[in-house]
Amino acid sequence: MASSVSENLSQTVYELRCNECGKSFGNRPLSACEDCLAPLEVHYDLESVRGRFTRESIAAGPANIWRYKELLPIPAGYQPDLPVGFTPLIRAKNLGKRIGANNLFIKNDSVCFPTLSFKDRVVSVALANAQAFGFATVGCSSTGNLANSVAAQAARLGLKATILVPADLEAAKILNTQVYGARLVRIDGNYDHVNRLCTQIADEYNWGFVNVNLRPYYAEGSKTVGYEIAEQLGWKLPDNIVCPMAGGSLIRKIRKAFKELIALGLVEPKEVRFFGAQATGCSPISQAVKNGWDYIEPQKPNTIARSLAIGNPADGPAAAKMIQETGGWAEDVSDIEIVSGIQELAETEGIFTETAGGVTTSVTARLYAHGRISPDELTVTVITGNGLKTTDALEGRFIAEPAVKPKLAAFDEYLRSLDGTPEIAAEEELATV
Ligand SMILES: *Cc1c(COP(=O)(O)O)cnc(C)c1O
Ligand SMILES: [Zn+2]
Repeated sequence: MASSVSENLSQTVYELRCNECGKSFGNRPLSACEDCLAPLEVHYDLESVRGRFTRESIAAGPANIWRYKELLPIPAGYQPDLPVGFTPLIRAKNLGKRIGANNLFIKNDSVCFPTLSFKDRVVSVALANAQAFGFATVGCSSTGNLANSVAAQAARLGLKATILVPADLEAAKILNTQVYGARLVRIDGNYDHVNRLCTQIADEYNWGFVNVNLRPYYAEGSKTVGYEIAEQLGWKLPDNIVCPMAGGSLIRKIRKAFKELIALGLVEPKEVRFFGAQATGCSPISQAVKNGWDYIEPQKPNTIARSLAIGNPADGPAAAKMIQETGGWAEDVSDIEIVSGIQELAETEGIFTETAGGVTTSVTARLYAHGRISPDELTVTVITGNGLKTTDALEGRFIAEPAVKPKLAAFDEYLRSLDGTPEIAAEEELATV
C-alpha cells in the first residue's frame, strides 16, 4: 500500500546508544552496554524529524502523548490508541501564597489516564516496543504505580503480565494490580532485591520487562511530561523544575525533552534549573547532590514514600550529575513532612496526591524557604501520583465523628459542640444570578 510506504519513509530514525562509550546497538530489548555496562539510551537523528515536529503539526495531533510520537521510539506502523497523558498544568496561587511563590505551576499527573500516575506514559511506549519485539509475556519490577499501569495496559493489549513487587507495598497498589488479571508476585525483600531478580527472570524466560530489558524505550515516555509543560506554557520553558526521584529517570528525561525542543527551534534556548525531591528515608540521589558526588551510595529504604523507595537507582549517578550541571539542587524530607505536604496541596489547590507528591510539595516549600528558588521565577512542580492509592499514609489523621440524627436540631447541636455558635449567613448578602 502506498500509504504504508510513505509512513515508513517518514519514520523517525532512532536507535540505542551507550551513554558512556557511544556504541550503537540498533533496536532490541537491551538496557546496558555490552562493553562498559553503562545504561543505553534512545538516540534520534533529529534532522530526520525537522519539519515534521513543529508547533503546528503537534497542535493538529490528538490531545494525548501521541501528539509527540515523532520523537517517541514507536515502531513503524504502530497505531497507538490509548489517550495517555496531556494532564493539566495549573497555576498554584494558593499554595504559592503559603510558601512564598509568586509564579508557581503544578503539572498534575495524579489524573493521568488510565491508572492515575505518570507511569502510564512510560508503559505505553514500552509496551508498543514489547509487541514489536514479539513478547507475549510482559512484566516489571515495581514500587507500585508501574505495577498498576503495566497490569492495566497489558490487559487492554491482550498481553500476559507478571509483576514483581516488594511484599510491604500499600494495599491499594496491590489491589490495583490484581484487578486487571495480572499475576502479582510479592517478593520478600526491598525494591532493589526485586529488580535484581527481574533482570535474571527477563534473561531466563525471555519476557519483556518494561523497566529492565525494555528500559531505554520505557524511559523515553517520560519526555512527554517535558513536551507538555513547554506547550502548556505557550511554547516557553520555565526557570525551574521540581521533580520527585526514584530511579532518577523522569527528571533526566524532562531535560532531554527541553533540549530536543530547543534543538528543533520550538522554544527559545534557556538553561532550566532542575531540583530533585526525595524522602529522607531513601535519599541516595539527594545525598549525592548535597555532597557534590557523581556517584551514588546505595541506601536501605525506610520511608512511607514507597513509590520513591529505590535505594540503588539505575539513573542516580546521571541524575545527580545533571542536577549539579544545571545549577539546581536536591532536597529530602521526613515522613511527617510528607504527610503535611499531602495535606497542604489538598487544602490549597484541591489536589489529592500520594506520598511521592507529598515529598515534592514539601521539598518545593523548602526550596523557597531556603532561597534556592526566588519567588518570581517561573517554577513547575511535578505531581506524579494519586492520593487514593496511599490512603494508609493518612491513617489516624481524620477521626470519624459519631453519626448525627437526621434532624435540624441535632445538626445544630452538633455544630455548637464543635465551634460554639454557628455562623448564619444573612439572606440579603447572597447574590442572585
Ligand atoms: C516511579 C515514580 C516516580 C519516579 O520516577 P523515576 O523515573 O524512577 O525517578 C515519581 N513519582 C511516582 C508517583 C512514581 O511512581
Ligand atoms: Zn558503552
